[in-house]
Amino acid sequence: NKQILLKSRPNGEPTAANFDLVETPVPTPGAGQFLVKVIYMSLDPYMRGRMGAEKSYAATADLGAPMVGGGVGVVEESNNDQFKVGDYVMCGTGWQSYCLSDGTGVMKLDPKQAPISTGVGVLGMPGLTAYYGLLEIGKPKAGETVVVAAASGAVGSVVGQIAKIKGCRAVGIAGSPDKCAFVVEELGFDVCLNYKDADFPEQLAKACPDGIDVYFENVGGKVFEAVLPLFNDDARMPLCGLISQYNMTELPKGTNMLPALMRAMLTHRILIQGFIISYHFNHLPAFLKDVSGWIKSGQLKYREDIVEGIENAPEAFMGLLKGKNFGKLLVRVADD
Ligand code: NDP
Repeated sequence: NKQILLKSRPNGEPTAANFDLVETPVPTPGAGQFLVKVIYMSLDPYMRGRMGAEKSYAATADLGAPMVGGGVGVVEESNNDQFKVGDYVMCGTGWQSYCLSDGTGVMKLDPKQAPISTGVGVLGMPGLTAYYGLLEIGKPKAGETVVVAAASGAVGSVVGQIAKIKGCRAVGIAGSPDKCAFVVEELGFDVCLNYKDADFPEQLAKACPDGIDVYFENVGGKVFEAVLPLFNDDARMPLCGLISQYNMTELPKGTNMLPALMRAMLTHRILIQGFIISYHFNHLPAFLKDVSGWIKSGQLKYREDIVEGIENAPEAFMGLLKGKNFGKLLVRVADD
């Protein structure tokens, strides 16, 4: 059983030295348990939070234990009536090639309905995040302008496509010309802008001639600063993520934007609502029905970025925090 352990906590950007690859015997399921052979491991930005010692909404990962995370795999041995050998499942696998489960929080997957990898992507946690955040907090109305940060990624790509399905103008923001071209040409956003361009704030203003009604925040920092002056009255901002800040060790120097933010919120009656998707899994049935329907009808597309081999997970994860991934980032741990 190959495992990647959290060896030390990062100070700023994670490095290879924070991880340890070890080989241990494949565990044997006890009473009520089953053994899962992991096929795809999901790499997600929230894992940076788990690596640190800072108090957050979820417990930090333990030093010397496998890194925490979700994945999909197949049941290889079972002492649990609910899960048979050969069943495909999505569960908290951790960064390892085999894991034990007692069924808690496990979702069965039907490979005839959708590729199993989607169980941790467009039909899993990131897809639900997009669906819930946009529809329940963003409440987009036809004709409105919806701006989406990290638009080519697992969450952002779904947000913009749902905005289009709901009749909105979708403006994406991403970190390279390739990603922007994909967001417009493949995903069907109206525009996508590269936030690394020097004149990005002017480009954004031009791309939103009627202002911004919904801003789906995944990033923070400079991207948010460009969005702030463009909010319309009664704008909504689902605050989903702040990836530009996850490796920060101190507050950035420079102008304090807080007074400008508070004034804009007051005068434009802006709703900013943070959310953590694990508290909203009750929306799963409606989400699965809608999003799998949109995938089948060709209205919603998704892209995966698959890295081969568990030993490459640390490097791929470090790349995720710098925009090296292009689509939902997965590690293929074993053949399907
Ligand atoms: P993505 O697939 O979008 O990958 C992360 C992307 O973030 C990168 O590809 C990169 O794209 C962008 N990025 C990285 N660093 C920076 C930076 N410094 N400034 C701007 N952009 C950056 O990841 P997900 O879709 O899984 O996650 C997107 C966001 O949603 C994250 O903030 C994540 O924490 C959040 N999230 C929140 C959840 C919740 O419950 N609240 C649940 C799931 C995700 P680019 O090249 O375009 O910059």
